Amino acid sequence: MIEGRAGRPAVFLDRDGTLMRDTGALPVFDPELLYPGVVEALRELTALDLPVALVTNQGWVARGALTYNEAEQATAGLARYLERAGVRVLGWGFCPHHPDVDTGPWAGRCVCRKPEPGLLVRLAVRHGLDLGRSVMVGDNLIDVEAGRRAGARSAIVMTGDGSGHRGLIPAGVPVLESVADLPRLLRRGFPASNPS
Ligand SMILES: [Mg+2]
Ligand SMILES: [Zn+2]
Repeated sequence: MIEGRAGRPAVFLDRDGTLMRDTGALPVFDPELLYPGVVEALRELTALDLPVALVTNQGWVARGALTYNEAEQATAGLARYLERAGVRVLGWGFCPHHPDVDTGPWAGRCVCRKPEPGLLVRLAVRHGLDLGRSVMVGDNLIDVEAGRRAGARSAIVMTGDGSGHRGLIPAGVPVLESVADLPRLLRRGFPASNPS
């Protein structure tokens, strides 16, 4: 486990299936894809002094289906939209790699594709975050695991892939119907330690 240095907590959020519908098509940011209540919930986190950071796997880039710039624009577009809506967005990161791709600049294994914790750790270092008091929220068990490996606490939402992972969720990981339920969970405060 990586020790977060003293700093502020943040909420790391997966994008597809967590904040917005995963259409299975190439990711282009469209506000219409956001799940109901997402903007309001993230604004409440800002009011609780909890900034958010977006962390997303974009293996499309390694596969050559999307350019690095297009993947960047899709994620930055969501970040800008949220900021304009009054959400404090610390930053974002995406993983362009894919372990099944053998050639090209994004081939092979990396330290940033979730469940690896690299995206979270990089943002934590850049923004002086306390990972031990931070939370990772996603719709997939790889998000839960990335949070755990980063030394943060994780919660899983039942949107996106979430409902398909019922029954596989590690003990102690809070289950939320959607991101709209996140402020209620976080208002209770951060648990002292990560569930095993
Ligand atoms: Mg997802
Ligand atoms: Zn990567």
